[in-house]
Amino acid sequence: MGKPTGFLEYPRLEPVRQPSATQGLNFAEFMYLFNPSDARTQAARCMDCGIPFCHAGIQLDGASVGCPLGNMVPEINDLTYRGKYTEAYRRLRLTHPFPEFTGRICPAPCEGSCTLGEHEQPVAIKAIERFLDDYAAAHPRQFGHLDQPEARTDRKVAVIGSGPAGLAAAYYLNALGEQVTVFEGADRPGGLLMYGVPAMKLGKDVVLRVVQRLEAAGIEFKLESPVGDTVDAEWLLEQFDALVLCTGAPLPRMPNIEGGTLKGFYPAMLYLTYATKRLLDPHFPAQAELEATGKDVFVVGNGDTATDCVATALRQGARSLTQLYYRNKPPIGRGPRNPWPLYPRVLKTDYGQQEAIALFGCDPREYARNIIAAKGDANGSVESVLVADVEWHKDAEGLLRPHCLPADARWRPAQLVLIATGFAGPDRRLLKLLGLETDVRGNVATQRSDSYATSRRRVFVAGDAHRGSSLVVWALKEGRDAARQCHQYLNESAGH
Ligand SMILES: Cc1cc2nc3c(=O)[nH]c(=O)nc-3n(C[C@H](O)[C@H](O)[C@H](O)COP(=O)(O)OP(=O)(O)OC[C@H]3O[C@@H](n4cnc5c(N)ncnc54)[C@H](O)[C@@H]3O)c2cc1C
Ligand code: SF4
Repeated sequence: MGKPTGFLEYPRLEPVRQPSATQGLNFAEFMYLFNPSDARTQAARCMDCGIPFCHAGIQLDGASVGCPLGNMVPEINDLTYRGKYTEAYRRLRLTHPFPEFTGRICPAPCEGSCTLGEHEQPVAIKAIERFLDDYAAAHPRQFGHLDQPEARTDRKVAVIGSGPAGLAAAYYLNALGEQVTVFEGADRPGGLLMYGVPAMKLGKDVVLRVVQRLEAAGIEFKLESPVGDTVDAEWLLEQFDALVLCTGAPLPRMPNIEGGTLKGFYPAMLYLTYATKRLLDPHFPAQAELEATGKDVFVVGNGDTATDCVATALRQGARSLTQLYYRNKPPIGRGPRNPWPLYPRVLKTDYGQQEAIALFGCDPREYARNIIAAKGDANGSVESVLVADVEWHKDAEGLLRPHCLPADARWRPAQLVLIATGFAGPDRRLLKLLGLETDVRGNVATQRSDSYATSRRRVFVAGDAHRGSSLVVWALKEGRDAARQCHQYLNESAGH
């Protein structure tokens, strides 16, 4: 708990966001931290609620309840309120290897389950986490030893993929004494933290700082080493005692649109990866078709990926911006089937939409609308899209189904269309090479959702490759728990 009466005394404070959209947009991180006084008063709002849900880490009705990592939020808040930042950070690290990431980009299911949130604004748990991470970054000597293993085994484990699941698996396996090598197909480490989440949300220097931490703790990273391509998968199994597969769920889900193969229609990840590569490397070749500058841009989809496309297109100087989502507008407050402490399914105006509103004076989102066709110019590049309203009707089984209404559809100018309608699961080539079974959704199968052993002995899986496209905090939890199961398996195999 913080201060027993703190929630009555202090309102919730959002960390200051700079620069504001009106001051000009750029790719520098926009989130600024609480100062110590803010952090303490915000932690003071934690109210000794008795049975906290903020750290529960469970799923109810398909929604997250509390922090999936099980962070000890009330204790962390109490220590922060008392100004014991070193102890608070250490308490955080008991369950969580990388507050660097979640303090910046976690959607904070903990806050959706905060008891104070039933009647008031919840405790600003994520911003307090960010404050503690910044405190630790400013005092590296105090915390460097937390990454070091106490003892070493003579066993070798390969982690495939360096997204949050791979980084967490590597961190815990190393902490448990295993010798860890991370094989990453891309030219930079971090997975979607590097080439998905844009730099203004998560600075790429932060991702590299975490990787440096892991290297200093003894983990080896092999970049540009795609397993199943230049690195033979069976060779890897011969060389290592176990593998942990953390290859994500990158296959884009592309809607079937008449004219949808024209130039200018791109999956969101192609666009976002290009934007980050250009930002990090001035010599990376420019591709005008992947730039939003001076164009009428449509983003199709909802969620983080769509928001990141909106914000990136704004920074590139889009002439106009429209975000289409085929579902109805979410409610402002919780609906009857979405009670506390479930994660709130309510209208969220994220940073990209806020920036668009500030720049263009209107919300870029249009709900219950979809693109049903596109027309191209003489070069085969998209020049306009046909946008139709969508109505939802119950079918014979009572399930709501979308119906496009072409009669009222209108042609609208568009030179860039970014598809952010989700992901269809992991790349199946490596799964086939390793002979791994998949579940009905095409993800790597395990016996239960909390077991990480695949159908092949010595091969474990974690993150989006296991649970489908999800969140950083779930990838971290899966990487942590898969590492522990892998370590236990190796101990049992060695007769310990
Ligand atoms: C644009 C975007 C924005 C997002 N924003 C947020 C957000 O704000 N907050 C949030 O919580 N979540 C967000 N997410 C979701 C989050 O990023 C993912 O859930 C998370 O990164 C999954 O982690 P992972 O480690 O399982 O996979 P990934 O991050 O996808 O990492 C997989 C890694 O494996 C590598 N790899 C794949 N195959 C091979 C191979 N054969 N050999 C070697 N390496 C291989 C890939 O190159 C990649 O580096 C976002 C996702 C996207 C796409
Ligand atoms: S990791 Fe995310 S869910 Fe967990 S306490 Fe931090 S902000 Fe909340």
